[in-house]
Amino acid sequence: MSSHTASQRYLSTRGGSYDLSFEDVVLKGLANDGGLFIPEEIPSLPADWESKWKNHSFEELAFEIFSLYVSPSEIPAADLKELIRKSYSTFRAQDRTPTVTLDEKNNVHLLELFHGPTFAFKDVALQFLGNLFEYFLVRRNKGKAESDKEHLTVIGATSGDTGSAAIYGLRGKKDVSVFIMHPRGKVSPVQEAQMTTVLDANVHNLAVDGTFDDCQDFVKALFADEAINKTHRLAAVNSINWARILAQITYYFAAYFSLIRSPSYTAGSQVRFVVPTGNFGDILAGYFAKRMGLPAEKLVIATNENDILNRFWKFGHYEKKAVHGREAEGGLKEDGVEAHAEGVKETLSPAMDILVSSNFERLLWFLAYQVYGASASSVAEKRKIAGEKVQGWLNDLKTKDGFGVEQAILDAASADFESDRVSDQQTLQTIKDVYLSTASQAGPKASANNGTAGTLTKNGNYILDPHSAVGIAAALRSVERVPASTHHISLATAHPAKFSSAVELALVGQPDFDFKTVLPEQFVGLEDKEKRVTVVQKSEGLSGIRSLIVKRVEDEKLAA
Ligand SMILES: *Cc1c(COP(=O)(O)O)cnc(C)c1O
Repeated sequence: MSSHTASQRYLSTRGGSYDLSFEDVVLKGLANDGGLFIPEEIPSLPADWESKWKNHSFEELAFEIFSLYVSPSEIPAADLKELIRKSYSTFRAQDRTPTVTLDEKNNVHLLELFHGPTFAFKDVALQFLGNLFEYFLVRRNKGKAESDKEHLTVIGATSGDTGSAAIYGLRGKKDVSVFIMHPRGKVSPVQEAQMTTVLDANVHNLAVDGTFDDCQDFVKALFADEAINKTHRLAAVNSINWARILAQITYYFAAYFSLIRSPSYTAGSQVRFVVPTGNFGDILAGYFAKRMGLPAEKLVIATNENDILNRFWKFGHYEKKAVHGREAEGGLKEDGVEAHAEGVKETLSPAMDILVSSNFERLLWFLAYQVYGASASSVAEKRKIAGEKVQGWLNDLKTKDGFGVEQAILDAASADFESDRVSDQQTLQTIKDVYLSTASQAGPKASANNGTAGTLTKNGNYILDPHSAVGIAAALRSVERVPASTHHISLATAHPAKFSSAVELALVGQPDFDFKTVLPEQFVGLEDKEKRVTVVQKSEGLSGIRSLIVKRVEDEKLAA
């Protein structure tokens, strides 16, 4: 095999497709066999990466990393640089994802990922994905008559958190329309306003008279609908899109360099990353960074009370419903319906409220490859074995609501990960504890690369959002398990103003607490701005929503 790997190809985790290009996997999102796309090889870092990248900007790091996953024959270097520049120019912080030290004594740092346009970490990926979609489509459409142009129709459902990041990622993009459904009246006023005040012609907010599940059912029905798939190229922006994982790898490196440049770091100390986890997308990017060669001792998964991942790492069973031991396992089939009915628990960290984590399938493939592929004679054979194994597990998840793995798989998973679960009560307590302890320290210190600690009050109190608090609670417990010299970098995934009711619940009555002092100017008066939203009745059904989408896309093309 050539040692000069200029070309990176992709395969499906269920073994149904191989040798796909980056462009294929970005535009398709999901593989035809229902699997997720992963790179055929995880690239290794160049030998001199640490000295060479040490003082790189966020954009320069992104370029180095993306170049290992995207062949220059697909996206020439100059174009890739421009895509990256454009994607992160919308971020308010100069360092894009600054790191601040929250607890000097325990070496706990916070990687602030909420300085993008919608104040949540999903911007890091979706700003890039939007530009990538546009880049591929414009290139495909070059020199074509208007009527022959390819057009992408992005469809998604949101319970509030991700819709705005998708909308801000795609607003105004050429040859792309975006339709985001939310349950009418069931998202918070700020979140609703963040979505519906975007007035670009290609952005369509649909307020569905129903629940979030009704919205998701519409999305699923549309993707399965022959009629619309004949005339429209549908695309999804949910966290299964490979480009989103790729974009998130950058900040693990950025945070690592920020830490080792800071005076508080002693050479050789261990580094752990702690990640508030829902769909396993954010932490999966950390896994790729680690496998590439980033010296992270462990990745700590922090779940809320929807703890399927934590149960997997504790018991080796991946099950929708918490079951205890062997006896319950037999009853699972009969209980299948009940397990479903029980569903997701609503917590104070809603962006992590999931029943199953879709990106976990990608990790399963690598675990199966490592454990079951070990004895196979060729790489092709190893991949085949991994694909079959994943297919079997996912099939059991669908038909039996869960599956168990052998000890060897759990051991392999535990080599890179630890897990923890944080209750709502602990989340509130952590917001309060951090608020009080940071004031007494005169506030967290921005690290060497001069972060803009975005959520400090004037007295230096640090206000965590509930998702970031889940991470910090798990980080402080992890501190107890490792040598005192270990540094923890915990990911802050949202600005507290996005989840103000949970924050108020935690901090009401605390000294000097006044939400206004941390409210970003972008949120002030947002709810009174002009809105564009279409109400959709559930009873209009698939045909109703299909014709609405077809008509809107047509109108957009006519106006273009
Ligand atoms: C999406 C989200 C998460 C969870 O990220 P995953 O990639 O799904 O694990 C955590 N916090 C916030 C604020 C989010 O929006």
